[in-house]
Amino acid sequence: MTGSPKNRNLLRALPSVDALLRTPEARLLREKVGIARLAELAREVTRDLRAKLQERAQEDSESTNGDHRREALILEAVRRLESACEQDAAEALRRVINGTGVILHTNLGRAPLSEAARLAVSEEAARYCTLEYDVETGRRGQRGARVEHLLAELTGAESALVVNNCAAAALLVLTVLSGGGTAIVSRGELVEIGGDFRVPEVMAQSGTRLLEVGTTNRTRLSDYERALDADTRLIMRVHTSNYRIVGFTSTPSLSDLARLAHEANLPLYEDAGSGALVDLSAYGLKGEPVIRESIREGADVVTFSGDKLLGGPQAGLIIGRAEIIARLRRHPLYRALRADKLAFSALQATLEIYRRAAFLEEIPVLHMLARTYEEIERRARRFLSRLRRQLKHESLRLEIVEGESAIGGGAAPTTHLSTALIALKHSSLSPDELDGHLRRTTPPVIARIAEDNVLLDLRTVALDEEDELLKAILSLPA
Ligand SMILES: *Cc1c(COP(=O)(O)O)cnc(C)c1O
Repeated sequence: MTGSPKNRNLLRALPSVDALLRTPEARLLREKVGIARLAELAREVTRDLRAKLQERAQEDSESTNGDHRREALILEAVRRLESACEQDAAEALRRVINGTGVILHTNLGRAPLSEAARLAVSEEAARYCTLEYDVETGRRGQRGARVEHLLAELTGAESALVVNNCAAAALLVLTVLSGGGTAIVSRGELVEIGGDFRVPEVMAQSGTRLLEVGTTNRTRLSDYERALDADTRLIMRVHTSNYRIVGFTSTPSLSDLARLAHEANLPLYEDAGSGALVDLSAYGLKGEPVIRESIREGADVVTFSGDKLLGGPQAGLIIGRAEIIARLRRHPLYRALRADKLAFSALQATLEIYRRAAFLEEIPVLHMLARTYEEIERRARRFLSRLRRQLKHESLRLEIVEGESAIGGGAAPTTHLSTALIALKHSSLSPDELDGHLRRTTPPVIARIAEDNVLLDLRTVALDEEDELLKAILSLPA
């Protein structure tokens, strides 16, 4: 396409990629994104700008002189390059302020780590560390030995093993204990968790044939008993983490299942999902298995997640009989699924908090869970009065409304946590626009929208994040 003479003039005024890269602004950006990526973005920016000019040339009369035009175009190109770099950076994994009130927000990385766990990762594990080294003997040590001892101590199990996540734990247990045979599971427990963990699919992957017994809402001990045959390798109990069947329901107790399994010389495996290391029913938490209880009731092996209610890093924790754990550890799949040093170090610091019984103060997930409505309301009120004092315009309407927080992460779906929400409404921006502004602050603030309001729940905002949250709200357009 040759175009009109006017069009050609305009295109000649467009800065070249090289000229754009030589601007002082681009030199600064180069430090941040690297020359290769910056050059790629500069090519995109010039290409888009050229396309836009070609369009505009059809209608424009372009009365300005060439130098002016050149200058305006380079400014425009620089602005676009800066914004392209910003968009590039927005993809990065970074800290956000969770104002949603969902404590275990899977998209926001589930459990935030305790101060002790954060320090352990950055100061110990991120450097050379004793991952598989015994300083007493100067010889090779066992990866995660300390964490395994702590897990056994805190749950009353004989032994423990740590893998990458709970899905990996389930895969390993099923592969080793029931691969090539059948495992019996109640129809009411064939759950899907977080969209991609499905019990029947993990079973298939492990080479285990699934034998479903009972019905969705009722399964009796005799259903399991009748299903037993020479191919049965395992009885499995799955905690229905993210939903509850209520009404006309029944399911045998874990201890009844354990008795049946042991009479038939089979192991009983419980996938507890989130589970709780300590009984949290005093804080309103309902229906999550306490791991120690599962062991006491006779489960031979139990798996649960490190980053759900436990409040640690992503990990799959396996506890149970020493003989079973030893078999899991010897299997080649363990080598592929094992946890890394960062996870071990965060986990160790987290478990030591439980050992000191300081979990309610020091483990963020449990600290947030235990906050009462009155505490959150008082905090919200103090925050609002600070905000009102500093707000320079009247476009924001701010008030406190009653609502609910959620545990999330596929745990305790029927637990209700009442909370005091800060409701924001803007005189000219829609809730979606307001929400978008908050997401684009640094750090991004993640809120939720209900009806016409943007809602912020201080339950999931750490005290030391309040100043940043305040600044983000103050930065909203008038
Ligand atoms: C969450 C959950 C899993 C998956 O755990 P990840 O740690 O996310 O792999 C498996 N089983 C149950 C019952 C769960 O609740």
